[in-house]
Amino acid sequence: MTTGKAYVTSVFEKVKAQNAHEPEFLQAVGEVFESLVPVFDKYPKYIDENLLERLVEPERIVSFRVPWVDDQGHVQVNRGYRVQFSSAIGPYKGGLRFHPSVNQSIIKFLGFEQIFKNSLTGQPIGGGKGGSNFDPKGKSDNEIMRFCQSFMTELSKHIGADTDVPAGDIGVGGREIGYLYGQYKRLRNEYTGVLTGKGLTYGGSLARTEATGYGAVYFAEQMLKARGEDFAGKVAIVSGSGNVAIYATEKLQSLGAKVVAVSDSSGYVYDPEGIDVALLKQLKEVERARIVKYADARPSATFTPAGEGSIWSIKADLAFPCATQNEINEEDAKTLVANGVIAVTEGANMPSTLEAIEVFQKAGVSFGPAKAANAGGVAVSALEMAQNSQRTAWSFEEVDAKLYDIMKGIYENAAAAAKEFGAEGDLVVGANIAGFLKVAEAMSAQGIV
Ligand code: GLU
Repeated sequence: MTTGKAYVTSVFEKVKAQNAHEPEFLQAVGEVFESLVPVFDKYPKYIDENLLERLVEPERIVSFRVPWVDDQGHVQVNRGYRVQFSSAIGPYKGGLRFHPSVNQSIIKFLGFEQIFKNSLTGQPIGGGKGGSNFDPKGKSDNEIMRFCQSFMTELSKHIGADTDVPAGDIGVGGREIGYLYGQYKRLRNEYTGVLTGKGLTYGGSLARTEATGYGAVYFAEQMLKARGEDFAGKVAIVSGSGNVAIYATEKLQSLGAKVVAVSDSSGYVYDPEGIDVALLKQLKEVERARIVKYADARPSATFTPAGEGSIWSIKADLAFPCATQNEINEEDAKTLVANGVIAVTEGANMPSTLEAIEVFQKAGVSFGPAKAANAGGVAVSALEMAQNSQRTAWSFEEVDAKLYDIMKGIYENAAAAAKEFGAEGDLVVGANIAGFLKVAEAMSAQGIV
């Protein structure tokens, strides 16, 4: 009989050979696969069904040309993607990322993570992801609109309210979703819930904007509770200053923690008096300014340019990496541990390298992996889909209460799965297993497809 270890290793060797030039995808797959060994020992029928090799191959990938005209009248071309990874438990669901770093490896790692994350939410949503190497930075509103319209002209052929429901991610927020939705509606003449993260006047859900950041904090609250702690008087670092970081900061401060630093790709600001969230929102959500402007406007704050220091060198009890993948390496992790960090909660997708995670876990730091800790965004997206289907709108309090329960449930399921499979306290293993089990059962029930 093949052991779980032998099976997982042989599939991973194949995946490595076939995707040798996709390091981020292999990183995400490697982390999940390692966790799943005991699952295959317990359920050998999944080996017979070669479930892992099927799951790791996306159901479909579309890659397409996105031509658009800039304000100078020049024709620009970008590359668009949609990875429809798994529809085992529901329509493909996951965000769109517009960032120059986007390539197939990035979209596949995000899509793969999304399968497990979406499963963990308990909502009926499969895994997908998309985006483009388009750089929204410095573009005018009209350029953004023309790009979004061109992107959706192709994407509209592949999505649908019961097929694939994209949303935002890095570089795609309310403005972009609005332009994308307008173009979809014009092309299809259908007013459906084909995108989430929509504006409140045209089918969006209250609390969707806040959901990822708030959800990460609700998850952290559970991790702290398990160690007999809470947020009162804790000092926190939140990297990033986009949607996730802003609302993580807001919720942390409302629960009694003090966030002393935030960042963007140009550097970080340190504000020992605590981040002024209203100022941060004005600069980032309204003016779309660089983070140095925060320090210009706030006497208590100092700015450190990228390359001249790391946000992770600041002494803190709590760290919330909410910027991007691989933003915490082994060195950063060691620094955080040396400075006494007790909990690390991933608001971004895969912000810690595998080596960094090992450092945290060995040091006894509570570690909330992205697919569990940042699932609040997509969870409320699923609630947005439910409201759209019912043609109704729930109150902020109602959605926020559901979000809280979902995040608590994710923590409890991940903790229980870790315990059941011999890795008590390891939420990486627990989240991977808990997320996988539902998808595996659904795949098995639906036959070899
Ligand atoms: N981009 C977010 C994520 O990484 C949200 C996806 C969604 O709402 O569909 O989960």
